[in-house]
Amino acid sequence: MAGEGLRARIASILERAGVDACIQCGRCTATCPAALPSSLRAREVVRAVQDGDMTVVTDRDDIWHCTTCFSCQERCPKGVQVTQAILWLRGEAVALGHYPAPHTAALAEISRTGNVFPLEAEIRAVRGQLSLPLDPPDCAHDPEELAAFHRLLEVLVFEDLAPERRPYAGEDTREVTGEGSEGGEGS
Ligand code: SF4
Ligand code: SF4
Repeated sequence: MAGEGLRARIASILERAGVDACIQCGRCTATCPAALPSSLRAREVVRAVQDGDMTVVTDRDDIWHCTTCFSCQERCPKGVQVTQAILWLRGEAVALGHYPAPHTAALAEISRTGNVFPLEAEIRAVRGQLSLPLDPPDCAHDPEELAAFHRLLEVLVFEDLAPERRPYAGEDTREVTGEGSEGGEGS
């Protein structure tokens, strides 16, 4: 069955993160800074792992609200590696291509340009006024550096993703960032 692999990997997370020791005391949720402004309930995530509930990976977005502050993990009375479990669950979600749209957009942007935030027109204008090149000398503006960055992403991030799930297709970044890094006066 298609879900058996995922079920086994969640069972592995349960074991590696010591989740079976959880007594559902709720201290992790109580200390979590993301609990109030979001749907994340660390105790419920831990419970899902205990139950082998695959929807925590396939259908829910709450694990993406975690700030990875490690408060829950530090304060768990049973030594459950809550944050680590969430990070592993995220890895499973990414491998399945299931992550929230804003993360997809951020991944696409950093994959295409090397920057998570595109340089806004106003910032480029100020750079020009300061006689700086309109675009900074980052990998987004050096095709060789960007190709090297893509190879790094392949190895570190997208190794397990099918090519069609990778959020870039080797686009020419100059189409994204604006052709030409011609500077302002004096550059
Ligand atoms: S603090 Fe630890 S024992 Fe308590 S609910 Fe969270 S993971 Fe379980
Ligand atoms: S690591 Fe994540 S789940 Fe744990 S307290 Fe911080 S934000 Fe909450």
